Amino acid sequence: MVVSKHRCKSCESENIVLNGKNKSGSQTYKCKDCGCCRVLISVKKTENIDLDALSKSYEERNSLRSIGRIFGVSHFTVYKLLKKSQIFS
Ligand SMILES: [Zn+2]
Repeated sequence: MVVSKHRCKSCESENIVLNGKNKSGSQTYKCKDCGCCRVLISVKKTENIDLDALSKSYEERNSLRSIGRIFGVSHFTVYKLLKKSQIFS
């Protein structure tokens, strides 16, 4: 299962807490390590997926939907990752 986490932009620490919202209404976070307060970008779910394991799973003739269930992403995301890794030509 893949869990998305937030990281500090300055020091890349995961030791952050919620710190209210800014004027535009976006959630801000405070880093407990470096003390900076910012709006953070969430880590993409696909960042932690092993593309070799994904392509091997596809070569074992698993369906895109079953691979998606294994890696915790949609079948369309699996298709995009396989296309990106040039399994599909
Ligand atoms: Zn920090």
